[in-house]
Amino acid sequence: MNDVLAVSGLKRSFTQGEETIHVLRGVELTVAEGEIVALLGPSGSGKSTLLQAVGLLEGGFEGSIRIAGEETARLDADGRTRVRRDSLGFVYQFHHLLPDFDAQENVVLPQLIRGARTDVAQERAAALLAALGLRRRLTHRPSQLSGGEQQRVAVARALANRPALVLADEPTGNLDEATANIVLAQFLDLVRGEGSAALVATHNERLAAKMDRTVRLHDGVLES
Ligand code: ADP
Ligand code: MG
Repeated sequence: MNDVLAVSGLKRSFTQGEETIHVLRGVELTVAEGEIVALLGPSGSGKSTLLQAVGLLEGGFEGSIRIAGEETARLDADGRTRVRRDSLGFVYQFHHLLPDFDAQENVVLPQLIRGARTDVAQERAAALLAALGLRRRLTHRPSQLSGGEQQRVAVARALANRPALVLADEPTGNLDEATANIVLAQFLDLVRGEGSAALVATHNERLAAKMDRTVRLHDGVLES
């Protein structure tokens, strides 16, 4: 019963005109507490669709998604927002940082939204950013940071509220190979240190090999 994520019978299809494509055809997946799982599959195989479902970002799905023990299928919009805020962290291929806020403020903000005290949130943001090698970048805005630094701020933001599960969609897909390797290693170290679990979509087998376990999307179902 220590699964932070349990997905069962998850289906999603898209209809455009006459054509219906069945992207997810009955996905089964569990992620244990603290486990880091690589979600592999070629472009178009449905990795982002699966992460959107688990992230409770979109409707239109069939099946069961339990997050930290709670069945999410019947939650209303407020309930989904609560689960996202309390249990999930997100990292995307592009950082989506707020351009007018500095690195530290971008990591402080989600904590304030969740009710943290400002000084506590600032301290945690500084510690997370320091762990990612950004001690000297706290007051830089996103436009003043390199691509790798921007992604590291996004990683710190995702972990700010100590999520049980981090969902990462090609988190280093926008970086050159050397930078991607460094940022991924730091991401994995930090997630492990924090004790969070993670589900990380990638089409890069070598990056996937650094995680605890690999699952592969093929023809709409997951293979181990
Ligand atoms: P991946 O992330 O593995 O590259 P995606 O989940 O983005 O794959 O897409 C899987 C398939 O679903 C693709 O064929 C894509 O065109 C289709 N798809 C994804 N989102 C939509 C949508 N909103 N409307 C129609 N088709 C979509
Ligand atoms: Mg994708």
